[in-house]
Amino acid sequence: MKLNQNYLRLEESYLFSTVAHKVSAFSAAHPEQKILRMGIGDVTLPLAPAVISAMQQAVAEMGKKETFRGYGPEQGYDFLRESIRAYYARRGVALDADEIFVSDGAKSDLGNILDIFDTDNTVLIPDPVYPVYVDTNVMAGRKIVFADANAQNGFLPMPDKGVQADIIYLCSPNNPTGAAYSTEQLKEWVDYARARGAVILYDAAYECFVAEKGLARSIFEVEGAKECAIEFCSFSKTAGFTGTRCGYTVVPKALQFGGISCNKLWLRRQTTKFNGVPYIVQRGAAAVFTEEGEQQIAQNLAVYRRNAKLISDCMDSLGIWYTGGKNSPYVWFRCPGYEDSWQFFDALLAGAGVVGTPGCGFGKNGQGYFRLTAFASEETTREATERLQNFLK
Ligand code: PLP
Repeated sequence: MKLNQNYLRLEESYLFSTVAHKVSAFSAAHPEQKILRMGIGDVTLPLAPAVISAMQQAVAEMGKKETFRGYGPEQGYDFLRESIRAYYARRGVALDADEIFVSDGAKSDLGNILDIFDTDNTVLIPDPVYPVYVDTNVMAGRKIVFADANAQNGFLPMPDKGVQADIIYLCSPNNPTGAAYSTEQLKEWVDYARARGAVILYDAAYECFVAEKGLARSIFEVEGAKECAIEFCSFSKTAGFTGTRCGYTVVPKALQFGGISCNKLWLRRQTTKFNGVPYIVQRGAAAVFTEEGEQQIAQNLAVYRRNAKLISDCMDSLGIWYTGGKNSPYVWFRCPGYEDSWQFFDALLAGAGVVGTPGCGFGKNGQGYFRLTAFASEETTREATERLQNFLK
């Protein structure tokens, strides 16, 4: 019996544990200091009332013999796939319902999708990055090359024709940088992927934060994307499903390699290894797309957007270079006066009692940068930006 030795090649992530350790040590030494946590990547507002009542109704159905449901379709109930199809159609993207696969979240599918690709492929991943893309490929033993995201390219790397890649990860709006691609920029990636016969794995977990015209909410807004891309989406940030768990993945039928349909392979993979998202959760997710649900969710998103604006306004007034904040719940800024993200973390904690996330934890290009998130309460965000203003002026 041999273990998968690739697991031993995974780098230990000390980012969030080190943050927690430093914060508790500081709190113990300064119990009088109120600490403001601006590093959280989880939502804080509750599920919308429309979602709750749809789930309650579904719970009641499960308790009656006539309406009880057992195993559901692995790829999701038709009512939810149809709601998602209509959501895309309202934004001008035509999909068939059987191109949409309901999942228990984007993270699982981003990892699981690799089942349908050979381990012999070379993977292109932006740096800094959401760590799941790197770790899932290390586990499979794939060769990884990095696309540098930095201040020169606004943390939005563009294709380099000299780089050979078969699987390309893009995340827009990005975690951790908050930067978002325009449809024109995505067109360059689509052209590059098609010319190389590569696949783009497009993480759109934060699409609901896109506010500016010209920026993409779906890669399928770009002509030719259905021939080269898979899109991963989530109800986590859109509707507060981080704990409830629901997402969806779009695998277009036009996506074929050597005459083999990725949609068919993914369906085969899902029906073999996955037994679907609970009916109750899917009913809650479908309520997100009702008129009432959309209105309620818009109110929650408006709170996070206002928080992001408070943070980016603070950076503007201090003249600090940053990305994100406008089409994203993340603000990513250059540590003022510090080369090292951890040194800035320590100084900010000691000087202002504000906690954020050191950029170097997301990749080498994150060194000297820092991430703040818009998911804290409005009150906390307001106080944190006032403290930042005083500390950094
Ligand atoms: N993709 C990105 C870029 C994320 O930041 C996250 C969560 O923070 C996810 C995916 C995971 O989403 P889900 O909760 O749907 O698994």
